[in-house]
Amino acid sequence: MDGQLATADGKRIGYSACPHDCPSTCALSVEVLSSDRIGRVHGAKDNSYTDGVICAKVARYAERVHHPDRLTQPMRRTGPKGSGAFEEISWDDALDEVAEAFLKAEARHGPEAVWPYYFAGTMGLVMRDGINRLTHAKKYSGMHQSICTMLAWPGIAAGTGRLAGPDPREMADADVVVIWGTNAVHTQVNVMTHAVKARRERGAKIVAIDVYETPTLKQADIPVILRPGTDGALACAIMHVLFRDGFADWDYLHRFADDPKGLEAHLQTRTPEWASRITGMPVEEIESLAALFGAHKRTYFRLGYGFTRQRNGAANMHAASCIATVMGSWPLKGGGAFHTNGAIFHWDKSLIDGHDVRDDSVRVLDMSKIGPILTGETEPLFGGPPVEAMLIQNTNPMMVAPDLTKVHAGFARDDLFVCVHEQFMTQTAQMADIVLPATMFLEHDDLYQGGGHQHILFGPKLIDAPGACRSNHEVIGGLAERVGAEHRGFGMTARDIIDWTLVNSGWPNLETLERERWIDAQPDFDTAHFTDGFATPDGKFRFHADWSHPVNNRFAPNGSIEDMPDLPDHFEAIEEATDEMPFRLVTAPARNFLNSSFTETTTSRAKEGRPAVMMHPEDAAALDAQEGDTMMLGNNRGEIKIALRHFAGVRRGVVIVESIWPNEAFEDGKGINFLTGADAAGPQGGVAFHDNRIWIRKA
Ligand code: SF4
Repeated sequence: MDGQLATADGKRIGYSACPHDCPSTCALSVEVLSSDRIGRVHGAKDNSYTDGVICAKVARYAERVHHPDRLTQPMRRTGPKGSGAFEEISWDDALDEVAEAFLKAEARHGPEAVWPYYFAGTMGLVMRDGINRLTHAKKYSGMHQSICTMLAWPGIAAGTGRLAGPDPREMADADVVVIWGTNAVHTQVNVMTHAVKARRERGAKIVAIDVYETPTLKQADIPVILRPGTDGALACAIMHVLFRDGFADWDYLHRFADDPKGLEAHLQTRTPEWASRITGMPVEEIESLAALFGAHKRTYFRLGYGFTRQRNGAANMHAASCIATVMGSWPLKGGGAFHTNGAIFHWDKSLIDGHDVRDDSVRVLDMSKIGPILTGETEPLFGGPPVEAMLIQNTNPMMVAPDLTKVHAGFARDDLFVCVHEQFMTQTAQMADIVLPATMFLEHDDLYQGGGHQHILFGPKLIDAPGACRSNHEVIGGLAERVGAEHRGFGMTARDIIDWTLVNSGWPNLETLERERWIDAQPDFDTAHFTDGFATPDGKFRFHADWSHPVNNRFAPNGSIEDMPDLPDHFEAIEEATDEMPFRLVTAPARNFLNSSFTETTTSRAKEGRPAVMMHPEDAAALDAQEGDTMMLGNNRGEIKIALRHFAGVRRGVVIVESIWPNEAFEDGKGINFLTGADAAGPQGGVAFHDNRIWIRKA
């Protein structure tokens, strides 16, 4: 522990990394007050991406880690599911009961009846992904991690061939920074740090493109609001103008793109007038945006997860990345397009994930379809056995999964055994048979990678956990022993696993990482900017996207891949409004929550107020609805009640509900995800959380 502690201004400072599901993965300096108390959390000033800046909700982390409602003892349910009736039991009894339930389910239907389920409540590689080692060692049903990234990653890789791109710190070197599909002020504040630096030091323009006037748009020089799911149309019209007005870099295109002539011909009909009808943007706005890009080749496109939360999201991501190629921006410092750096870390995760004991013939279930799966639908179960036992870590599907009508019905099954390992009594934990208390990131050792930047960071145990909390790694090891799972990783400490993983992935060992605090894993300029060619077989950027390429495309609905556009286009796969359901609902992230995390802290709850649907005043007037009225929102998946908030910063016919509030915060106990769909989109699944047609009326 002491190796990670320094003294500053008379305070003991521990170094760490933010574990939350946020591309910033901030390097942290934590005031350590005693063996079990922290003070304020700060951003590390000497980390070149964090640059001393973190979000307010993590700065006040003491409120979360020392929350009086932390789970501290294992518990067994004593009343009906969801009743909240539990009694404390010992760790041995709890793990014995979980193991017995898993072995019984296995005896009835085989190991695939057990489904370990997790996600990104922590992004630490050991604590998040170690559950996979248990899954693989026991041949339990695997989990397709579709809920967040599967509509984004194939989109960016479709053109460049690689999940990587120009150094995100180079936003500060751009003449134009385009923040597209991410409300960075709410969700990854460091993007703003580097974009604002470009404006301050170079006079750069910040363009922010989204579906409503977010705080990020308010800070931008050029805010752009378009209809949800129409980014592909905007990208096509911009490229149409770039070709039309002589801004296409033909020398670059001939050397580094697959079919620029074909793209130019294809875009002939994708005019600003065509895009205006689809996006809702005025023609002049599209023209001037294209002219700005044309005049500034050194443009950095920072593409976020937001615009991929649509059934056509992957196609839209690809279309946006094509603009940088038409402009020939990629070879310039401060130019190109970036989404994530997932490919640069080249991890050997065989010890963490247990890849070396994985059997590829074992069933893998789509995590986004947890509702249909738990309610016994045949197709998402691939005709195999029902799921009868689950271990859930790092996620709260009773709140965050789509199609909650089915999710809630599934968790209510009497023949489903559920163990939830959690930090708080979430709504999912309330449905569990056994609840286990989990450590938070400052209470265990873990390894982190930046998605939105290039650092590898170590987060050591800085304080003792309250009560009898155990880490995910400890719980997995305890269960493995009881169910007869064998792998060398179960008997190792988290630190030993981290050290082995670093060294076998080609990075310095843990001792070095601890001393240095982070590793800057940024590839060299030429690799990051694809100056010698893109990561495709012939080195050319693909305007023609090969959507059949992703390895997991068995999770896309039938026909969806064949329907996806070959060249960039507006892909008409979204839930367009109808006469019966004339509104389109976007479920956007809130500033003070992170998915369901932080909904338990008093300050975050107070700052967010209450759930509200943000509606254009003219749409509200047409419904004869006033500010504060209770509205009914519904579609074929469910109905919810929510307060009305007037909001002029959105196109007519589009409504926004920020944040995933707990279900009980809504008048009738039904949260926003009762309206979102679990139907998978191409090319490899994923949830279109911002793509829901609904009806609205006064309650
Ligand atoms: S900005 Fe993101 S990574 Fe940084 S502290 Fe906040 S939640 Fe964590």
